[in-house]
Amino acid sequence: MRKLQRAICMILCAMLCITGCGKDPNTDQTAGGQPAVSAVQMLDFNKDLTRVDRDDKYRTTYEIFVYSFCDSNGDGIGDLNGIRSKLDYIQDLGFDAIWLTPVHPSSTYHKYDVDDYYAIDPVYGTLEDYEALLQECHDRGIRVYMDLVLNHTSDDNAWFKAASDYLHELPSGWEPDTSYCKYYDYYNFTRQPSDGYAHLEGTEWYYEARFWSEMPDLNLSSEAVRGEIRDIMAFWLGKGVDGFRLDAVTYYYTGNPDANTEFLRFLTETGRSIKADCYLVGEAWTDRNEIALLYGSGIDSLFDFPFSNNNGFIVNIVNGTYAASDYVKGMLLAQEAYSSANPDYVDAPFYTNHDTARSAGFYSADEGPVTKMAYAMSLFMTGNSFVYYGEEIGMKGAGKDENKRLPMYWSDDADDPDICAGPPDKDEIPMKFPSAAEQMKDDLSIWTWFREVIRVRNAFPAIARGLTESVDSLSDSNVAAFIRRSRESGTANSASDGDLLIVMNLRADTAVKEISGEASAAGGADGSADNNLTLAAVLNTGEENITYDDGVLTLPGYSIAVFTMD
Ligand code: CA
Repeated sequence: MRKLQRAICMILCAMLCITGCGKDPNTDQTAGGQPAVSAVQMLDFNKDLTRVDRDDKYRTTYEIFVYSFCDSNGDGIGDLNGIRSKLDYIQDLGFDAIWLTPVHPSSTYHKYDVDDYYAIDPVYGTLEDYEALLQECHDRGIRVYMDLVLNHTSDDNAWFKAASDYLHELPSGWEPDTSYCKYYDYYNFTRQPSDGYAHLEGTEWYYEARFWSEMPDLNLSSEAVRGEIRDIMAFWLGKGVDGFRLDAVTYYYTGNPDANTEFLRFLTETGRSIKADCYLVGEAWTDRNEIALLYGSGIDSLFDFPFSNNNGFIVNIVNGTYAASDYVKGMLLAQEAYSSANPDYVDAPFYTNHDTARSAGFYSADEGPVTKMAYAMSLFMTGNSFVYYGEEIGMKGAGKDENKRLPMYWSDDADDPDICAGPPDKDEIPMKFPSAAEQMKDDLSIWTWFREVIRVRNAFPAIARGLTESVDSLSDSNVAAFIRRSRESGTANSASDGDLLIVMNLRADTAVKEISGEASAAGGADGSADNNLTLAAVLNTGEENITYDDGVLTLPGYSIAVFTMD
């Protein structure tokens, strides 16, 4: 009953939007017509926040497209030692995990077609370089996820070459015999061509190749192939890899979600049998229903595609197509769908990746605040949140794949040795925002915003680990408000997480929200005590301050307030 009373007590008393210049008459800081202080409030307000470390799978992960990130040896190609030289940069931003795109030998620049699963491509370095990178990441508390491409191999892979050689020698009309060539069974060969199959030249055979004739699909039902996969996972987990990003999981068995779920279950159980806390995140570029189905495999994470890219929840909300409150609705839909399939799921929100356009190009007239808020929405979702390199400085790049993978814009120095040449056939695309070196010196930059958002995420474990509850009385078309409720006490996640009320102004206009004078916005975590709201962290995209006085919260355009509740 008390809980109900408290819920009723959560009354929106007043709300108004002030258009125009956004100066707020209620704030002391701007009284008397004086200009707001030039410093950004959050840098002072949040400066004493400290990160809370947990030995769990809720991370903030930096996606590195290895070819384009940082070159250490002057050949213009990003490499492992280059990544190692940037760990300070990655850690300063607050990331505690990295996902590297494939590092195995491959003739393509992206390397999503593997020649040899047990080796490192020489242009990226050596196995020793990889081990050194792993060691240094672990010394810093940074986890490392390897990209595991299992839907297909390269046609230069020794498995495919052996199968191809065998079929070339097989007399016409004879049935293949895996006791002569076990690799015949590693791929899906047939004499009957159909959609998604390529011709094996010089033979009467065709093979499944959904993406490209040079990427033959593996026969994932083969016990021999599954044995190979088990060995590959054991090899890299043995080296210290913390988990795998699984490429193209909806193509494992194209058009067959049940079979894909079964195979993900095999991968999950195999990984955990080798290393109990092996982390897996799958790329299922599909809708919420199919993602939920795949969570039935027990896999830790699947990328939360419905929030991503230039047509997902986040962009539709910041562009005004959807209401701000739809952000909370979307999170609740995901939470309900995914947790019912796998109660231990760890959401994997992201906004962009190496296959999507970069977000700075999503908005026609943005000077930065929209780019900042959209990423904050991604980083305020629960789970293991992923950020594509370069997004922290608002890089541009869209259209053909090469342009989505442009060299990390470290500086304007043409002789900067870290800067890569980028993919062959890329276009020269002018950047919209300054380089990393410039933005790191600017308190109002996108880079500084990312660092602050992640600092707040790391200081309050419930942001990544809690359960979302809507606060309908505070949410509207411009404002998204929600509670992040710590999990039940006694679990590893809960000890001192504390519940949070998070209020985000996703529009340019200032929002003023009167929150109940008793500050009892919702029940305490234990359901017994009234709670007090304390403004615990602020995030401003501009120079205007966030204030909370006498129960009145004033949020300048594009800003976020985080309250603790006790
Ligand atoms: Ca290099």
